Amino acid sequence: MRKFVFVTGGVLSGLGKGVVAASIGLLLKSRGYRVTMQKIDPYLNVDAGTMNPQEHGEVFVTIDGKETDLDIGRYERFLNEDLTADNYITTGQVYWNVIHKERNGEFLGQTVQIIPHITDEIKRLIRRPVEKDGAEISVVEVGGTVGDIEGLPFLESLRQFKEEIPREDIVFVHVTLLPLLASSDELKTKPTQHSVKELRTIGIQPDIIVARCNRAIPTAAKEKIALFCSIPPTHVIEDRDLATPYGAPLALMEEELDLRVLEKLALPIESVKLERWEELIERVTAPAQRVKIGLVGKYIELGDSYISIADAFVHAGAELNAGVDISLLSAEQLQRDGTDRLLRDLDGVLVPGGFGERGIEGKVKTITYLRENKIPFFGICLGMQCAVIEFARNVAGLDRANSAEFDPATLYPVIDLMEEQTQVTQKGGTMRLGEYEAVLCDDSKSFTYYRCHRIRERHRHRFEFNSAFREQLTRAGMRVAASSPDGRLVEIIELVDHPWFVAVQFHPEFRSRLLAPHPLFVGFLNACLTKKSS
Ligand code: GLN
Repeated sequence: MRKFVFVTGGVLSGLGKGVVAASIGLLLKSRGYRVTMQKIDPYLNVDAGTMNPQEHGEVFVTIDGKETDLDIGRYERFLNEDLTADNYITTGQVYWNVIHKERNGEFLGQTVQIIPHITDEIKRLIRRPVEKDGAEISVVEVGGTVGDIEGLPFLESLRQFKEEIPREDIVFVHVTLLPLLASSDELKTKPTQHSVKELRTIGIQPDIIVARCNRAIPTAAKEKIALFCSIPPTHVIEDRDLATPYGAPLALMEEELDLRVLEKLALPIESVKLERWEELIERVTAPAQRVKIGLVGKYIELGDSYISIADAFVHAGAELNAGVDISLLSAEQLQRDGTDRLLRDLDGVLVPGGFGERGIEGKVKTITYLRENKIPFFGICLGMQCAVIEFARNVAGLDRANSAEFDPATLYPVIDLMEEQTQVTQKGGTMRLGEYEAVLCDDSKSFTYYRCHRIRERHRHRFEFNSAFREQLTRAGMRVAASSPDGRLVEIIELVDHPWFVAVQFHPEFRSRLLAPHPLFVGFLNACLTKKSS
């Protein structure tokens, strides 16, 4: 059995199409089906690794080291499953493949064209995860908005695809917006009608319309959409604004979205198992207590730049029945205005990953404050590298110690370029990427939370803890809590005489799920709660 759910979007971007797609994935899985998901991104970048997180949101890394769109992270968190490079398609990747085939002579004698060569490649990539993983249903989200020029080859591929497989193996879900017109106090359906018209021009008739709105859709409006868009009123699904995206699967189940999908796919409706999710959502929406955690970053204008970290706090919070208020702090402002005023009311601070020199000194200053005042600190990737720099300068007495990324001439490059990176010149997809094993020490704080010796975590970096300084820094009191299995790479550092000072070279946030919160986020949040209550 191989069935496909295609999710397209109309009217405008940012409607939460990814949340709708992920919710469909979770609901079908909860009804006993083996589900996979896929994101199509119509940009020319081969992957998201070279894109600015402030503009495009976080770069999410899969276990096999693909740098993808943040929606892949959302799918993993909803499905509670690992996805791979196969679950992510970009225009850049499609053209790259076709052009390589052309150079290899696979199309000898032919004129290589968008139709059929590009569309054939798109269809091949859409089939791939289902064929490889043996999933029964694939939920495929098409990024962008219907009508975008760059999305056309993908929609044309879906049109062809629909002609090639049985009608009951495919369902089209179109997500639109019903704007509220204040003057008449009315939800307007015209933009939805127009966007469906646009989709039909391409040859695709949606089976279900999910309408984003900020109030209940009146029956008359549902009937109007149904009439103009040629679907039954029962297939117009209300998608109200919610306090948390994690509530969306439950709200959409209430609207019977999953039942309409299964009916169209001619699949039996099995009973749903979502009790644990429901329990956790209650805690997410009404937690017993709250803590305030600072996130010191370079990108502070857009929450999506750190979406996996924010979500990991939701997961840990659900586990500990605590709500986390994240306050985004500018590293540059901390550098300029000093740390005390901005940090003193916080219960803990996380310094996340990043690239480039901007704001580094502010991050180092912040870590000094947290270390000296015994405030819980969690460093991730660049955050860990800053912690090593801070410790080297202010505890081990290595004056102006730095990372070779920011000061190639420093006398003490405590963070240095990884050996395997020295010959790398291309930027795209060339970092140390994806999941690697690490070995934990028994007597570490991290072990208390992981409760196992061998862990697997995802990476995305070019620089690393410089082993030449390992002895000097550990002698000064820094603990290496985890290393790579061959002992060469430092993966976690900790400070012993501190309530929670843990910094990791990897990205634990990529592995955290609502149903399986990450142990280090739970540990850190626990330390923040203890700090608050003291
Ligand atoms: N810029 C650092 C490096 O490349 C850290 C990367 C990160 O934080 N993801 O090693």
